[in-house]
Amino acid sequence: MTRPCPCCSGTPFADCCQPRLTGKRPAETAEALMRSRYAAFCEGAVDYLITTHHPASRAPNEGADAARSIAATDWVNLLILDTQKGSPDDDDGSVTFVAAFRPKSPGMGETGQMHERSRFVREAGAWVYVDGEQLAPYRPGRNDACWCGSGKKAKRCHV
Ligand SMILES: [Zn+2]
Ligand SMILES: [Zn+2]
Repeated sequence: MTRPCPCCSGTPFADCCQPRLTGKRPAETAEALMRSRYAAFCEGAVDYLITTHHPASRAPNEGADAARSIAATDWVNLLILDTQKGSPDDDDGSVTFVAAFRPKSPGMGETGQMHERSRFVREAGAWVYVDGEQLAPYRPGRNDACWCGSGKKAKRCHV
């Protein structure tokens, strides 16, 4: 019950994204929804990924695609870089993040990153993910913490 949340917030899962995944406490902000969707990928919560995706941008095979992605990939770190609007008083917002992932099968490649600006809107009171713009690979400063979550400075890790 006290394990840390997979979204890397530093808060216990039970006090962070878990109540969002179970529907007990809907995300109050766009960033909270983004974190909970990342946690849903870590936890294999396919239904949550579908219901928090705007109906207009949902793919016909979204559930199967998400399940395949979850089966193939470990998500190992999340770094929120920027948040625009998306507060409880807003109806839209965006979150820029870098998420680090690793293929589950050995030999299928190294740790990679996804650098994205995600757009969110509030539909009938609930935040939903609209779409995301893929950005060029994120490069931290040489002395900043690496995006992969190793805890090392970037210059000693993924630069
Ligand atoms: Zn969380
Ligand atoms: Zn690294």
